[in-house]
Amino acid sequence: MSTGSDKAAVLVEALPYIRRFWGTTVVVKYGGNAMVDPLLAQQFAEDVVLMHSVGMRVVVVHGGGPQIGELMAKLGKESEFRDGLRVTDAETLDIARMVLVGKVGRDIVGAINVHAPLAVGLSGEDAGLIVASARDPELGFVGDVDSVDPSILHRLLAEDLIPVLSTIGSDAAGQAYNINADTVAGAVAGALGAEKVVYLTDVTGILDVHGELIQRIDAARLDGLVADGTVSGGMIPKVAACLHAVRSGAGSAHVLDGRLPHVLLLEIFTDEGVGTMITGKADA
Ligand code: ADP
Ligand code: MG
Repeated sequence: MSTGSDKAAVLVEALPYIRRFWGTTVVVKYGGNAMVDPLLAQQFAEDVVLMHSVGMRVVVVHGGGPQIGELMAKLGKESEFRDGLRVTDAETLDIARMVLVGKVGRDIVGAINVHAPLAVGLSGEDAGLIVASARDPELGFVGDVDSVDPSILHRLLAEDLIPVLSTIGSDAAGQAYNINADTVAGAVAGALGAEKVVYLTDVTGILDVHGELIQRIDAARLDGLVADGTVSGGMIPKVAACLHAVRSGAGSAHVLDGRLPHVLLLEIFTDEGVGTMITGKADA
């Protein structure tokens, strides 16, 4: 049991962080286990609302690969993967869009709005937010981000709302594409000049070649870990997005363990080092 003075100490510890982050923008990529476990999902919503309550401008970007796979299976449609990317024909794109915009996004909006009517769900197709193009014709409607027009996000944030973004983009002709959520979060963080972009995932952070957690790393050294293959699989788009974000104006990027209850609060409001912090400039 924590005592009254323990509780007071936690609040006092948070004070300098609250002052420092008031009015700053934080992009949170929500995915992995943190999204599948109902208790963690509820705690995630609490963390986002708390961050908002102390003056932070929070943008949530969510994934949903497992949920897309689940509906595909229910519909009796096989998923085919090439280099970890789902081959996306027109029907698969429809399924992905329905799941992301119609289900996963709605669930997050609902969980946040239990606390206060703050969250607004949107797709990257809305108001020209994400312009996309095919990554590789072999993959069908898997998109890459061509450009981000963050004005709709600025407008929602100016209204004190919490945008919850599903990562479907569209090209100039209105064709939709499914885009990796890590990539979108990095691009959005760069376009907003966010103070932080935070990735919640299912590992403790970025691990070195010995499997040990890297607590802090700069962009140049992280490039090396990609080049030598220490970073692989689903960590590749995450790291690429972190590198893009810190090189295009974000203050720092963080890869955190979404399995830890309230990991967002630990990262933002406490002295405790959690996960991996990526900075643009070399550490002194
Ligand atoms: P998410 O749902 O969060 O996008 P992914 O499965 O796509 O999760 O990516 C996280 C996975 O990346 C980890 O579970 C791990 O298996 C893999 N991975 C590859 N290289 C590394 C590394 N160097 N450090 C940490 N995880 C890594
Ligand atoms: Mg992933």
